[in-house]
Amino acid sequence: MKRTQSESLYKDACCHIVGGVNSPSRSFKAVGGGSPVFMEKGEGAYFYDVDGNKYIDFLGAYGPIITGHAHPHITEAITNAAHNGTLYGTPTRLENQFAVLLKEAIPSLEKVRFVNSGTEAVMTTIRVARAYTGRNKVIKFAGCYHGHSDLVLVAAGSGPSTLGSPDSAGVTENIAEEVITVPFNDPNSLEEALHKWGDDVACVLVEPIVGNFGIVEPEAGFLEKINELTHQAGALVIYDEVITAFRFTYGGAQDLLQVTPDMTALGKIIGGGLPIGAYGGKTDIMESVAPLGPAYQAGTMSGNPASISAGIACLEVLQQDGIYEKLERLGALLEEGLQTVIDNHSLPATINRLRGALTLYFTPSPVKNYDDADKSDDILFSKFFNKMLDQGINLAPSKYEAWFITIAHEEKDIYKAVEAAEHAFSEIEKE
Ligand code: PMP
Repeated sequence: MKRTQSESLYKDACCHIVGGVNSPSRSFKAVGGGSPVFMEKGEGAYFYDVDGNKYIDFLGAYGPIITGHAHPHITEAITNAAHNGTLYGTPTRLENQFAVLLKEAIPSLEKVRFVNSGTEAVMTTIRVARAYTGRNKVIKFAGCYHGHSDLVLVAAGSGPSTLGSPDSAGVTENIAEEVITVPFNDPNSLEEALHKWGDDVACVLVEPIVGNFGIVEPEAGFLEKINELTHQAGALVIYDEVITAFRFTYGGAQDLLQVTPDMTALGKIIGGGLPIGAYGGKTDIMESVAPLGPAYQAGTMSGNPASISAGIACLEVLQQDGIYEKLERLGALLEEGLQTVIDNHSLPATINRLRGALTLYFTPSPVKNYDDADKSDDILFSKFFNKMLDQGINLAPSKYEAWFITIAHEEKDIYKAVEAAEHAFSEIEKE
């Protein structure tokens, strides 16, 4: 597949944009380097690049695009919003309407606040938890990603009871020392950390179903145990549902799994493809936020009519009958097809899937936490990624990401992807 225009645009981009990309996850560094594909148009389940190549898209823009690209209902909502002015700096009726829609879907959001990204949403929940509890420390889980604010760019220390170390230059040791990282699906480590640091812990932050080291579900009772241990320690439970809200069901992972946090951070799907974030939770906790309380958070762009209109339109699409059944049906078809490919070959691989989201790891053993996911073979993934791309299948250029199916995908797209995977596995095996 020729991608000369992409290559030339990437060269130009590198002269003007740091690393040639506006988010590091878009670079092809982890898959052998080279030029990322410059897409020109997205339509339903498909992408068309600047060289005129067509792709079936399983990236879904890292999660938000659950309706497929350029869904007509969302496009119309954005167009109408643009005609009425894109930013007011005043409250609007739309914000009320959207807040009610979100609360109906995720009842633990007694009060919400709209922001502009998942990063902002999570960052603020931590500030609010600190303001509410008067404590400083944060416990999070290894491999979960919560955006790029300082506090969550902290890596695990040498054990579950040790303080973290900076995961990015520019994050200070002082900040890292406020964060403790424990393994996912390991209640004993959480208990140990809370035992050691409990009186200082403001919150335990978790992706209730992990999306950032592939799709990893909590084991039975794990989320309940987080609630129990955290509340015993006098701290708050925060769910980062930036990926999971409206991905698996009309509502959050908390609605699917019937476990309720104190606060929730949202983003991605709720913006229908435009920039957005939101956070919310119990009324008395949320009343710590300005103008009612002492925790400050503000935003010029927050609640802008374009993002809110796109979000409302996206949820309206997701309210239709059969949406999540379709995602389940296509997800099962993809899993079954890929499993047959794995069974037909000798490459070590395993699949995690929930409804329309799936990760193919190049490791033979089950993946239940970050260490398991990390064993996925970098070289095999890189070969697989490039061979899929050359056959017109667009995946995320990282072994830790999920394939996202949208409601625009059809059976034929799944069959094509499986056929491409069969070919890719055969080629890799021959090398
Ligand atoms: N939380 C989770 C679980 C995420 O996956 C992401 C982004 N991938 C974020 C937070 C940050 O969101 P954003 O990129 O919109 O800032």
